[in-house]
This record gives sequence, C-alpha cells and structure tokens, in this order.
Amino acid sequence: MDVVVATNNKGKLAEIKKILYPHNVLSQNEVGADIDVEETGVTYEENAFLKAEAIRAFTDKIIIADDSGLEVDVLGGEPGLYSARYAGDGTTPNQGMAKLLENLKDYSFDEKTARFICCIALLMPNGEKHTFRGECEGFIIDEKRGDSGFGFDPVFWVEDYKKTFAEISDEEKNKISHRFRALCKLKEFLDNI
Ligand code: IMP
Repeated sequence: MDVVVATNNKGKLAEIKKILYPHNVLSQNEVGADIDVEETGVTYEENAFLKAEAIRAFTDKIIIADDSGLEVDVLGGEPGLYSARYAGDGTTPNQGMAKLLENLKDYSFDEKTARFICCIALLMPNGEKHTFRGECEGFIIDEKRGDSGFGFDPVFWVEDYKKTFAEISDEEKNKISHRFRALCKLKEFLDNI
C-alpha cells in the first residue's frame, strides 16, 4: 500500500517507515506538496485532518498526518494543542519547558501526572476518514534531564525506564511512545485493507 505522510520531518518519516513496513511511505515532498499548513483546529484530530486534507490536491493515494502534544493534569490539560508554542510564537522548546516548570513548581512529583497524545488522521482516496490515537503516561519532573529527543522530552519521566524521554535511546522511546502506539493501530488498519 502506498501512503503519503503530511510531513517532511526526516526523523518522523524514518520512524513511520520503520513501523509501517512493508507499506510504501512517501513524504509530502515526494508528491510535490511543498506546503506548510496553519494548525487552526481546536482538537488534535482537527489539526491532523487540516494537514492531511491540504495534501489531497497533490495525490490520489492514502494520506496520513499526525498532531501531538503534552497534557499535564494539574494544569487542566495544558500545554495540549499549544505544546509547540507554549511560551509564545517563535519560542524554543527550552523556553516552553521553563514556563512549564515554573507553572508546576508548587506541586509534588506524584501530583504532576501527564501524558503525550498523538492523533493520526487518515484520508482514503474515496474520501473516507479514520483516526488512530496513542497515549503515553508519565510525570513531569522538577528539572531537565538528558540530551536526546526533542520538545518536552527532558522533563517527561516514564515509569517503564525510570528515566526521562531524553535519557533513553530512540529505540527505547519508540517502544512505548504515543506516536508508536498510534502508528501500530494505523499499521493494523492498513494491513487489513
Ligand atoms: P507535533 O504535532 O508532532 O508537531 O508536536 C507538537 C508539539 O508537542 C512538539 O513541538 C512538542 O513540544 C510536543 N511533543 C509531541 N511529541 C513529543 C515527544 O515525543 N517528545 C517531546 N515533545 C513532544
């Protein structure tokens, strides 16, 4: 099955290719879609479909797009949809983490339960739509630990490894991550078409 992914992010593509194998995964550039879509939706699902639908003008193949974020319970689900720009437009992940740690400084470890969410939207050539959701539970710690990964990885601690996402390898992270879990559900769907 040919599947076009609404991204040009090399790391994301490599992970998706590995998990969806033997399906043939193409980047949006490979179908000539040199576009960047504004994420104006109010849910992960809406944002993922906005990205997927923007590719439809370039290809008749199956299209997938993902949207993800970090939700912290005591902050009412923040930063959520705004994870990439938590400290404001154009700010860095370090600034986002600094804001998060500041907002959480009065809470104990046990109170700082959080989860990463990944939603994958799929558009069939006939217009049919499907979504696949993956979640990964953890805790926000008081300070950054580790150098690998991206985004909020240095402050997101998981019970499975008793480490942050930035202290484990990509292979370890990809065994339990929200994206991995959503991709596994997508793979099962593609295998049964
Ligand atoms: P995107 O939808 O994949 O672009 O992710 C949106 C934002 O959520 C990122 O910019 C990160 O701040 C956060 N995020 C999503 N997944 C992860 C992850 O696996 N590790 C760390 N941060 C993540």
